[in-house]
This record gives sequence, structure tokens and C-alpha cells, in this order.
Amino acid sequence: MIDFAYTENQLMVRDMAREVASKVILPSIQEYDRSQKLNPALFPAMAEANLLGFCIPEQYGGLGMDYISLGLASEEMEYGDTSARVVLSVHIGLYSLPILTWANEEQKQKYLVPAAKGEKIGTFGLTEPAAGSDVVGLQSTAVRDGDHYILNGEKMWISLADVADYFLVFAWTDLEKKKNRDHTGISAFIVERDWEGLTTASIHGKLGVRAGNTGSIAFQDVKVPAANLVHEEGQGFKIAMFCLDQGRYTVAAGSCGLIKACRDACVKYCFERKTFTKNIAEHQLVKQMVANMEAGYEYGTALWQKAGWLKNRGLRSTRATSLAKWIACREAEASAANAVQVFGAYGFSDEYPVERFYRNAKGASIYEGTREIHTLMQADYVFGFRKDKQLDRDLPIVEQ
Ligand SMILES: Cc1cc2nc3c(=O)[nH]c(=O)nc-3n(C[C@H](O)[C@H](O)[C@H](O)COP(=O)(O)OP(=O)(O)OC[C@H]3O[C@@H](n4cnc5c(N)ncnc54)[C@H](O)[C@@H]3O)c2cc1C
Repeated sequence: MIDFAYTENQLMVRDMAREVASKVILPSIQEYDRSQKLNPALFPAMAEANLLGFCIPEQYGGLGMDYISLGLASEEMEYGDTSARVVLSVHIGLYSLPILTWANEEQKQKYLVPAAKGEKIGTFGLTEPAAGSDVVGLQSTAVRDGDHYILNGEKMWISLADVADYFLVFAWTDLEKKKNRDHTGISAFIVERDWEGLTTASIHGKLGVRAGNTGSIAFQDVKVPAANLVHEEGQGFKIAMFCLDQGRYTVAAGSCGLIKACRDACVKYCFERKTFTKNIAEHQLVKQMVANMEAGYEYGTALWQKAGWLKNRGLRSTRATSLAKWIACREAEASAANAVQVFGAYGFSDEYPVERFYRNAKGASIYEGTREIHTLMQADYVFGFRKDKQLDRDLPIVEQ
């Protein structure tokens, strides 16, 4: 049976996120986007509203909500600004849910509970200066030395790099396998910000997500306790792919929030702006652009909710999540480009929000799997190439 109605709990999460977006994000977003700074009120407001851990089980400090709630919250946060949805993507999708699934009990108590309560912020460090889509091209190494690993390397384009307390980091532990590009030589570690040898820096001058923090992390002989290895040596690639399944889901749902923001801004403007004696809402070509936004929203929503439905039932959703992410981001980019068009010259200025939407929409076709990577994934599923690969078969089921 398919049920399009949301439960009371899902609506409660959506409303909490909507309130944070309308009261904390939207009133000052122009200022923070212009100054390229993170709003210092964002994390406290998200923590207060339980938005930093609501879909983590209660026994680990969360509220035990489901994946549809995570999608709805992502949509509402991105309606406020993409930078706010990114917090959900990295802190919950790429950090907390993977720790819940892959870490041992001691690690969960130490690194998941404070994150779910909103006391600590987690992020995900996979990308490096010379390796993004090509994950096995990463160069960081973690060499075992007694009861520690010595971590060296550099991560790049890491969301919240300058503000996170904990980093889920990927590095080669088997240097022979590194030479052969064998992904079973990569391992995952939880690393703390204040460990000696770890430094971070912010990236300025980004096209979009300017009100968010994105940066680099350098590891120079960082001593990581062996107890901070997540799962087992050699499982890092699989864990990273699992992380992306959760993060991409939030990006897909968030993109629908961006489409809705484009649509709502256009509807308002279309009744204010007159050309040729009519509101521009009455011109058919303008209607076409707004109609496409509506179609894109429904399209993207149906896809992320299908992925969420699979996830809630503990079923694999890699294919559905990839499709949702690819299509929702594509529709968000198209909607934002049309929104600028609907606003004419005013859309070309930051007096109105649509130019911010346009800049922000671009990023989502790059991070968490580029447009091209998702296109290839979908084609590979269709041709049957992908299901033959081991990494696609044996990821664990997420219990909710
Ligand atoms: C705002 C922002 C936030 C980010 N946050 C994080 C984060 O928190 N943690 C993290 O680890 N990373 C993060 N990233 C990095 C992001 O995940 C990577 O940028 C992304 O994976 C793409 O890698 P790349 O930039 O190295 O591009 P490349 O992989 O170098 O790709 C360059 C171009 O080649 C294309 N291409 C690559 N391989 C193929 C192929 N096989 N076939 C066809 N085309 C191909 C790509 O689609 C792209 O067009 C973030 C990036 C941004 C912009």
C-alpha cells in the first residue's frame, strides 16, 4: 500500500525545521551569504529544535524519527538556505547515521550520543585535493604503530571543516593495496579536532553555499588510537559508499526545498511585475517556467520519498537514492536558472534571493556524486553492470 499522508511525528519534524528556517535563517541570510560567514545562531537553534539528532534512536540521544522526517527537514532547511541543509547532510547523513550503523558500542557512546544531542558536530572527510569522484585515488595514509595509527594526508572541500568537533576520515591502511588501487586497503577512522597535527582552514570565494563553512583538513603525523578505527581495517570504502547513500538522500530532498523557494519567489514577483499592461503571471512563457518548477518539485519529491520508503524498510536504496539525487539536483538547477529569468534584471542582483538559489543549485550537481557519476550509475544499473560488483551487494541493512 502506498500512503502519501505524513504522520504526526513527521509533520512535527517538518514544522520544527520550518520554524528554524523562517525565524533563524531567512531573516539574515542575505547578510551571511554576502559576508561568507556561518550564522552563529544556526547550530544552537538546530540543537534546540532537536534537528541535529532527530533520526537517531532514542537510546543514542536522538528522537528515533524515520527517513521521511529526514527528507522533510532537509527540504525545509534548504528552503531557508542550502548551507543549512548541508548541516543535516554532513552531521546526520554522512556522520551520525554511518556511526550508528558501523561503529561499535563504545564508539557510539563516545561519538554518536553527543552528536545526536547537538553538543558536538560531526563531518565527513573523503575528498582530497587530487581525488573526488575517484575515491581510490585518495592519498591519505594511516600506518599502524602499536595501539595507534599515524595519519598523514590532506582533505579538501570538507563541509564544516572549520567548525566540526569530529571527523569521519578515510585513509589507506594497506599501502600495497594502495599501489594497486584495491579499495579493500582503505579504512575509516573517527578523528577529534584537537588532536595534535590536525589543522583546518576555510575556503573563501565559493560560487555558492557561501553562508556555510567549507574547508580543508591537514593531518601531519596525527596519532589516532586504534580504538577509533571504525568497523575493521579495509572496510573504509564500503563505509564511505554507505555514507553517501544517506548524504545524497538529504541533498535530493533539500533540492526540492530549493525548487519550492524558486517557485514561491517567482509567484510573488509575477504578481508585482507588470509588462505590456499585464502582470507577468499572465504571459504564457512565464507560466511555462513556473509550471516546470512545479513539475520538477513533484518529480524530485516522488523520487526522494521512494528512496526514503526503501530506507525505512531497511532495504537497499543505492539505486533509488542516486536517481533521486541526480534528478532533484537537475530540476533544482533548471528551476533556479528559470527563476533568475523570471525576475529579469532584478534576478541578476542579490537584492532578490533568486541569484543565491542559482549559485547554490550548482553545487549540488557536484558534491555527493557529480551529475556525470549519477548518470553513469543509472546506466550501469540498466545494463546490469553494477549489480555484479561486490560493493553493491553486501552493504548492511539500516535498521530504523
Ligand atoms: C560545497 C561543497 C561541499 C563539499 N563537501 C564535502 C564534504 O563534506 N566531504 C567530502 O569528502 N567532500 C565534499 N565535497 C567534495 C565533493 O564531494 C567533490 O567535489 C565531488 O565528489 C567531485 O569531485 P571533484 O571535485 O574532485 O571532481 P572530479 O572527480 O575531479 O571531476 C571533475 C569532472 O570530471 C567528471 N568525471 C570524473 N570522473 C568521471 C567519469 N568516470 N566519467 C565521466 N565523468 C567523470 C566529473 O563529473 C566532473 O565533471 C564538497 C564539494 C563542494 C563543492
